[in-house]
Amino acid sequence: MAIGTVNPTTGQTEQTFEPHAEAAVEERLSRAHTLFPEYRATTFAQRARWMVTAAELLEGELPEVARVLTTEMGKTFAAAKGETAKCANAMRWMAEHAEALLADQPAQTAAADSRVVFEPMGPVLAVMPWNFPLWQVVRFAAPALMAGNLGLLKHASNVPQTALLLEGLFRRAGFPEGAFQTLLIGSGQVADVIADDRVRAVTLTGSEGAGRSVAEAAGRALKKSVLELGGSDPFVVLPSADLERAVAVGVEARVQNNGQSCIAAKRFIVHADVYDEYLAAFTKAMAELTVGDPFDNATAVGPLATAQGRADVAAQVDDARRQGADILCGGEVPDGPGFFYPPTVVTGITPSMRVATEEVFGPVALVFRADDSEDALRIANDTRFGLGSSVWTNDEAERRLFVDGLQAGMVYVNAMVASQPELPFGGTKASGYGRELAGFGIREFCEVKTVYVAAGAHDSGAIAGD
Ligand code: NAP
Repeated sequence: MAIGTVNPTTGQTEQTFEPHAEAAVEERLSRAHTLFPEYRATTFAQRARWMVTAAELLEGELPEVARVLTTEMGKTFAAAKGETAKCANAMRWMAEHAEALLADQPAQTAAADSRVVFEPMGPVLAVMPWNFPLWQVVRFAAPALMAGNLGLLKHASNVPQTALLLEGLFRRAGFPEGAFQTLLIGSGQVADVIADDRVRAVTLTGSEGAGRSVAEAAGRALKKSVLELGGSDPFVVLPSADLERAVAVGVEARVQNNGQSCIAAKRFIVHADVYDEYLAAFTKAMAELTVGDPFDNATAVGPLATAQGRADVAAQVDDARRQGADILCGGEVPDGPGFFYPPTVVTGITPSMRVATEEVFGPVALVFRADDSEDALRIANDTRFGLGSSVWTNDEAERRLFVDGLQAGMVYVNAMVASQPELPFGGTKASGYGRELAGFGIREFCEVKTVYVAAGAHDSGAIAGD
């Protein structure tokens, strides 16, 4: 895929970039390798000062940064401003909490001193997607840099301006040259970078296919990997729920980011007792959304990010229609420039349809009728994915049933799934492994070192060595 900005609102190519030649990649790897001993010796306080400065720069330049995001991948300008502000908040949070999250953990043993120490690993490669082009990178980079690691970013090929903006941001904030660098490379070069001895670990956020390739390359090189992959999150509505709110939040949870979020609600599973009422109100709200120019304040849903992405969504919906699904609204590619696709509601889904097993990465809601709560839980778990999940109920027993029973990395009750620095984020099953954010996230790219200082000459260190 060529590296360049194709404005999804117009379909026009705005800027293209020459990929980095081998020598340029080598220069960046070498710079990171050389910097690491010096960088890891910097104090948390120093790194926090740089991180807070980066947050201040983002806040000061918020509209300009947001403009780049909207131009490159089509999210509404309001959403782009929100994403930028969220990044600044997370940077501040990591700056404030990293030292405590990585504090030594003393252990109770016979030793004079025994403890667990967290140490940075070195340069970490981050292969990132375009859908939250700033946030996906920051939620890796802020903890990684605060822990004393270095970042090497291979961003998605359609958001090079955002990638370069991030490199410039960290540099301007005071981080030394080489602390965070962008590699303008294609996905075909990722395995070579992972194999390079100077790169210590890799994180990927993206599709299942990319996850498999990266995990394979990391496995061959015996390197740590974290994978944040796709999802087909359930949004379960039970009779005791506040239906009006479940409709409003359900629509938002599905069409956020023009329908292109890994944690978007994708499968709506509604109890039979409230199915007709919910479906009617939900479909009406979806059909009434304004689709259009993402820079227009009245727009709720902008274009999909790429022509290919739209073609994929359209093919999935067409396949469902051909196999007998009911398309209650949307479902047709509109005429005109740009990569628009309308909010769409699909019912009557059967197991042989592609949408039944694949992630749909666009504003398409699949609605399922459940006989009862147990049936709703069964449908919710009937997926290869296990990223987020949301359940709407005001009944204590139902809440327990779903919190315990949902096979997912995250369960939200009466709220849509979201990411925040205080809570770990990640999936199970085909949605990946490892966690980002919070203490779990910052420790993913730390070596865990056990330190044992014997109490005296007779302390053998263990009952039996192995
Ligand atoms: P993608 O095609 O997998 O691309 C993601 C990144 O991986 C890009 O930088 C891409 O580079 C690279 N890549 C693609 N194939 C690769 C390969 N074989 N080897 C190495 N790198 C490879 O995904 P996308 O379409 O951009 O993003 C949408 C997907 O990401 C969805 O499935 C979504 O659910 C998932 N996602 C997950 C999370 C999460 O936290 N769990 C968050 C956001 C998105 P090129 O652009 O150069 O191809």
